Amino acid sequence: MKVQNGKITGGYEFKQFLGQPESGLVVQEAPEYLFVPLCSASLGIKPLVRAGDKVKSGQIVWQDNDSISSPVHSPVNGVVKSVQKMNYLDDEILSLKIESASSEGWESVPGSGSEWNKLGKDEIEKILYLSGTSALGAEGIPTRFRTAVISPEEVKHIIVHYTFAEVYNPDISLFLDNGGARKFTEGLAVLAKIMDQAEIHIAVGINSSTWFQVIENALPEDLSVEYHRVKPKYPQNHDSVLLKTILNLDLPTSYSGMNRGVVIIGIQDVCQVYDAVVTGKPLVDRIIALGGPGFKDHSHRQVKIGTTVAAIATNNLSFDDPEDLRFINNSVLTGSTLSPESPIGRNSEVLVALEEKRGQELMFFARPGFGKDSYSNTFAAKFLPFTRKVSTNLNGEVRACLSCGFCQNVCPGGILPNILFPYVERKMLDETVIQYGIFKCIDCNLCSYVCPSKIPVASHLKEGKKELLSEAFVSEKDFINAYNLIGLGEATDEESE
Ligand code: SF4
Ligand code: SF4
Repeated sequence: MKVQNGKITGGYEFKQFLGQPESGLVVQEAPEYLFVPLCSASLGIKPLVRAGDKVKSGQIVWQDNDSISSPVHSPVNGVVKSVQKMNYLDDEILSLKIESASSEGWESVPGSGSEWNKLGKDEIEKILYLSGTSALGAEGIPTRFRTAVISPEEVKHIIVHYTFAEVYNPDISLFLDNGGARKFTEGLAVLAKIMDQAEIHIAVGINSSTWFQVIENALPEDLSVEYHRVKPKYPQNHDSVLLKTILNLDLPTSYSGMNRGVVIIGIQDVCQVYDAVVTGKPLVDRIIALGGPGFKDHSHRQVKIGTTVAAIATNNLSFDDPEDLRFINNSVLTGSTLSPESPIGRNSEVLVALEEKRGQELMFFARPGFGKDSYSNTFAAKFLPFTRKVSTNLNGEVRACLSCGFCQNVCPGGILPNILFPYVERKMLDETVIQYGIFKCIDCNLCSYVCPSKIPVASHLKEGKKELLSEAFVSEKDFINAYNLIGLGEATDEESE
C-alpha cells in the first residue's frame, strides 16, 4: 500500500476547541413534524404529493427530470400537512411539512440487491437516482439521469475525503469500524463501476491515516485506490484545495471540482451509496455530528432528513434560551446559519451550536484570554494547552491593517489579501487586482479569522470579485478557456444567446 503526502499552501489547524463531537451514536426517533427540503422556490417545481396525502417512508415525493437534480423521498410514514416556502441555507426553498406516524422501514429501491455487480451501468445509475443518493457529495454523483453537471464518462478522478480540517469533525470510526470498512469499500466499488475510467483517491487527515490499512484490508481485489495523507488544516476540505493537494490541478473561484472532471465525496456518502444499491435503502436519514459548546451531549445522531434543529436540540442545550445560540450547518467558517425551525438536509454532516455573543468585550484585543484562540504567537493562548471556546463574538473592533502578514501566511490561494482588500475598499477594481490573483480567493474566510485588526478581509475580496464579474472585466468563457472547465455548457449557451 503506497501512501502519498499531500501538501497544502497556507491553512490553519484548529486545536483544542471545546465541544468536540464524541464517538457515540444515538438513533433519534422521528419528531412529530418534519420539514423536508425539496428545491429552490425559484424553480417552481411542485411536489408529487399534496396536503392531505398519505406517504410512506422512502416514497418519492419530489422529482424533476428536466433540471439537474435527484428525487426527494418521504423520510417517514405519515401525512403531508402542507407545502411551504422557507429560508434555508441562504435560499428560499419549497419544503414539505409531514406529520410522522411511524419511521419503521422504507420502500425498497427497485433493482437493488447484493448481486449488484451483475447489473449494467445504466441499472446501477438508475438505483442511485431512484434512491436519491445521486444527490450526495459536493456536487452530486454523475449518472445518465442529469444528477450532476457532467456525465459519468467525463469523470477523471473521484476523491473521497476525511480531512479533519474543520473546527468540529464527525467521528470516522462510526463509518469504518465494526464492518463499516467493508460497506464503504463496496460503495466505492459501485462508484468505480459506473465511472470505470476514473482514478480513485482517498484523502485522510494525518491523525486518522491508520484507517488506510483498515480500508486496504477490506478493498475488493479488483479495485485499486491511491491513498493520500493530508494535513488536518482548514480549508483542506474545500474543492480547490483538494484538487491542488491531491491532483496538482488549479480551480478558479466559485467553480467546483466537477468542472475539472473530479467528483468529491465524503465517507458517509459512499456508505449511503452502499445502502442504496445493496440493501435498497433510499436516502431518508443522515448521521450528524453535534459540535460546539452550545450542546451538552456531543454524541452523533442518526436523524431522519427533515428533522428540525429544535428537535435535535431539545433537552440538549447548555443555555436555557435557544436565542442565546447560533446554529451552523457543517462549517464554522463558511456554513450557513440555521434557525431552530431549519431541517437537517441530505448534505448535512455537522450541526454546530455556538454561544451568540452580541456585545463586544471591552478592549478584548489587548487581553486575549487563555480560553480564546489566537493566531498570533504574541498571545499566550497560542501555546498553552487550554481548551478554546468558540463563540460568534468578533472579540474586538475593526482597526487599521498592521501589515502583520497573518492573512498571507494562512491563505490557501497563495495570494496577498492585505494588498488586495484596500483596492476593493477604494473601488480601484481593474486589471491590477486580477493580476494580484483575486480570483484565486476561494472564500474560505480564514484571512478574516486570523486578522488581529478584525478586518473583514474575505468579505472585501468576495465583493471585489462580484464587482469585477458584473462589470465584465472577466467572463465565464475566460475561466473555461484558462482552466479547461467542463459541465458549463448550459451557462455558456445562455451567455452567447
Ligand atoms: S478568503 Fe480568500 S483571501 Fe482569505 S484566506 Fe481564504 S482564499 Fe485567501
Ligand atoms: S491579517 Fe489583518 S492586520 Fe494582518 S496583514 Fe492581514 S489584513 Fe493586515
